[in-house]
Amino acid sequence: MTTLTIEQMLHIDRENIWHPYSSLPAAYPAYPVAAAKGVRLTLADGRELIDGMSSWWCALHGYNHPRLNAAIESQLKKMSHVMFGGLTHEPAVKLTKLLIDITPDNITKVFFADSGSVAIEVAIKMALQYWYCSKNKQKTRLLTVRSGYHGDTLAAMSVCDPVTGMHHLFSGVTPEQFFAEAPACRFADTWNESYITDFKSLVEKHHKQIAAVILEPIVQGAGGMRFYSPDYLRRVRQLCDQYDILLILDEIATGFGRTGKLLGCYHAGIRPDIMCLGKSLTGGYMTLAATLCSEKISSRISKGEAGVFMHGPTFMANPLACAVSIASIELLLSSCWQSRVASIESQLAEELSPCKLMEHVEDVRALGAIGVVELKQGVDMATIQPKFVSRGVWVRPFGKLIYLMPPFIIEPNDLRKLTAAVVDIAGEL
Ligand SMILES: *Cc1c(COP(=O)(O)O)cnc(C)c1O
Repeated sequence: MTTLTIEQMLHIDRENIWHPYSSLPAAYPAYPVAAAKGVRLTLADGRELIDGMSSWWCALHGYNHPRLNAAIESQLKKMSHVMFGGLTHEPAVKLTKLLIDITPDNITKVFFADSGSVAIEVAIKMALQYWYCSKNKQKTRLLTVRSGYHGDTLAAMSVCDPVTGMHHLFSGVTPEQFFAEAPACRFADTWNESYITDFKSLVEKHHKQIAAVILEPIVQGAGGMRFYSPDYLRRVRQLCDQYDILLILDEIATGFGRTGKLLGCYHAGIRPDIMCLGKSLTGGYMTLAATLCSEKISSRISKGEAGVFMHGPTFMANPLACAVSIASIELLLSSCWQSRVASIESQLAEELSPCKLMEHVEDVRALGAIGVVELKQGVDMATIQPKFVSRGVWVRPFGKLIYLMPPFIIEPNDLRKLTAAVVDIAGEL
């Protein structure tokens, strides 16, 4: 194929390619990226942008990392892929061992999925198959909280926030689930039993139908960037135990240190029955996710009518993805990520705080390597996006939220450029 000019590329991109949550032809052009290294994206026209997004929570170690490149190159020379039916390989086995080591001690079984949404589908199917195999035909529904986000496939979508997820567009097709109010307690609030009232009453009323509760622990990500108290999670675990309901934790965004702990559930010291990992699992290199579960779940399913768990993707446990994932996790664990994330948190909290004085700002918050400026009204993407790019930073707001989620390797000077751009641009709105 001949090389394309930037204009030709932009034309095809705008006319023919769907981007996430986009229309066609696109309402505004995307920015062509030619390369990325460390915390910098280089655009096709040569401009450099400091990355404040980690490519949606994924690129923990920045881009083009020599150790991650080496892991993938060395695996590539052996094999890029083989089917996982009837075959296995060292990258999958080593990664499994690592994941079992870093997750709560009841979690011992791993299912590799190709994306976060698929990992959620798998988790939901595991919960449903568990109850079916327990000869309980009533437990077929899920309970979650509002403002959540769990992915875009149909079952995953059914547990996303019903309003922002526009459930009405798909009514009759997506399964109907139970929704409690979003946790009202902030991360550091002292516990008050009233915070769980709505959730508890749904459990009391419908527990015979509820197969599982599904939650993003501590941080609700794409559904609103909300941080809530670990006590809420502890109470959810107790209620699930009391009413015989499984607990699925969606750690796809919170996993691998983003909230200041290796996993979100470690803030609360609780153990889920089923857990999903994704996003930063490969350090942002390739798509890979995992659904992990306890022996209790796997043995019940395996002794049931089908005798097997009913799922098996073509690219399951892709060796390239597993190899880079092992390298990314080892790199993370051997780094001083806790102190890096802690200093990112305090810098975000301090440098974003001027936004608190702005009349059109609802709230400013920081937890781990996540900083959020919540506005009272939604932003206009067509005008705000070019402002960030002209400041030399890559920040992509959504709805009422301008947020930063930089790679953990970011230096204070670069982070300061990100926060300064957010404060200035928020101030101009
Ligand atoms: C991104 C995300 C998903 C979906 O993952 P995809 O890889 O985009 O399918 C699910 N749950 C949470 C919490 C996420 O942040």
